[in-house]
Amino acid sequence: MASSTGIIGKCRVFMYAASSDHPNSLPIPLVAKMYAIIIVVESRKFSPPTTFPLHQRNAMPRKAHTNGTLRKPHPWGAPPWTVDFRPAPRALPDHVDFAIVGAGFSGLSAAAWLRRFAPGRSVLVLESASLGNGASGRTGGMALSETAAGNLPGLGDVLAGYKKILRAFRIDSRLTLPGVWELGRSAPATKGSGPAGKHSPISWSDSGELKVFRRVPGGTVDPGKVLAGLARAAENAGTRIAEHAEVRALDFSNPPRLHVRRNHRGRMHQKEIRAEQVLLATNAFSLELSGLRAAAVPKLTFALATAPLSTAQLKTIGLSSRRPFYTVDLPYLWGRLLESNGVIFGAGLVPPYVGRPSRFPIGNRSIKNAVRDLRRYDVRRGESAARLRWLEDRVRHLHPALASVRITHRWGGPILLTKKMRPIFQHHPRSKQVIVLAGYNGHGVALSVYLGQWAAQALLARRPLPRW
Ligand SMILES: Cc1cc2nc3c(=O)[nH]c(=O)nc-3n(C[C@H](O)[C@H](O)[C@H](O)COP(=O)(O)OP(=O)(O)OC[C@H]3O[C@@H](n4cnc5c(N)ncnc54)[C@H](O)[C@@H]3O)c2cc1C
Repeated sequence: MASSTGIIGKCRVFMYAASSDHPNSLPIPLVAKMYAIIIVVESRKFSPPTTFPLHQRNAMPRKAHTNGTLRKPHPWGAPPWTVDFRPAPRALPDHVDFAIVGAGFSGLSAAAWLRRFAPGRSVLVLESASLGNGASGRTGGMALSETAAGNLPGLGDVLAGYKKILRAFRIDSRLTLPGVWELGRSAPATKGSGPAGKHSPISWSDSGELKVFRRVPGGTVDPGKVLAGLARAAENAGTRIAEHAEVRALDFSNPPRLHVRRNHRGRMHQKEIRAEQVLLATNAFSLELSGLRAAAVPKLTFALATAPLSTAQLKTIGLSSRRPFYTVDLPYLWGRLLESNGVIFGAGLVPPYVGRPSRFPIGNRSIKNAVRDLRRYDVRRGESAARLRWLEDRVRHLHPALASVRITHRWGGPILLTKKMRPIFQHHPRSKQVIVLAGYNGHGVALSVYLGQWAAQALLARRPLPRW
């Protein structure tokens, strides 16, 4: 069985899912079933209210001041990361050699590498919002090895490649790779996995006792710094990056034509751009464009950050080694420390899956599970607020030292789930001049940057696409 990791989950051991009769009793050896199970467990156990109480709302600023102007808060809340780079505003060209759609880790890495490999060719990145507005600016920033489906043929060493890329572009990413702890409940999930938890520094209460049972390669970065660093490297090398430039449609002609709507200084402009080749790095958005509507499922997932903990508190809860962690069984939980000594915890998905786990996430999808626009969710309301409340409640019950901790950030971000949890890295079914790179299943911090480099090589016909 393939192993699976990511912010959603991991199954190097058997996973145990909840049925209505026997919570935590069914061994589920299939990775793809996991997502549905998470939702089943979560939604049966808790029926949270649909809005935040006032004190929690106050923790989420309703208005942000930027350069003297009032900006509406993002409906997905604010992560603790800052992207201290804005691309220079420039006119859009009529024609480019390479157009990259999406300025997340994948797109920016590809853009930076394209100009490094082929300095004479023109590269344009089109981003519908601003840098970091997708998953990359809202991520947890755990750098994990392999893919969510484990190792794949020809993948290579993701973490070593990631480290090399960050070094090549001189990005002060705050990458540390002390290893990642895999946590499991004392029973039955860690059964058969050796002396599980015997000397565990962590002992948390979360549907059983959560303990460390092994360490795997990985660590953390500051994703805001990685995004800014990649964008800066790309722009310094001559890439044009256009924010607020949404690709509304793509003609699969030769060359492909992108129909772009750009909000430039408050005015909407339409523009048609011809590109010899296109990379669609749009992740959980624009599934019509990438042709992934039937092949992948977008979800919103959640995280919160606590105020800085004291050294004594970190020691008491078992995090003084500063290692990030995730659970290998359910309900899923992941987390990491911030440089400030605050702790990020994450879990939960909306929209929830409705139906039989075995059908999840792809195929025979009912109307209820049809792809929905994630932009309609607001972390202060409805299902998303409920997920965040549920997460906060869990965090407060993990350990007495966390019972009254202040929460400084609550936010959500998009992830794209795929068949067998494998990333999608292929030609668009309608054009050999268009490559699609997406679908990391919540396991894309290191992988997206790593595969971004590969995408640049593939666009330059220097490396074939993988056969995953
Ligand atoms: C809360 C959260 C926590 C996570 N934690 C981890 C973790 O700890 N470790 C890990 O490995 N992974 C984690 N992930 C997953 C990881 O962050 C993602 O896999 C990775 O950031 C994906 O990068 P990307 O560039 O492919 O996508 P994105 O960063 O989503 O970028 C896609 C971009 O495309 C733009 N776009 C979309 N459509 C268009 C269009 N039509 N025109 C122009 N632009 C468009 C979007 O605005 C967006 O900026 C997490 C994800 C979330 C949401």
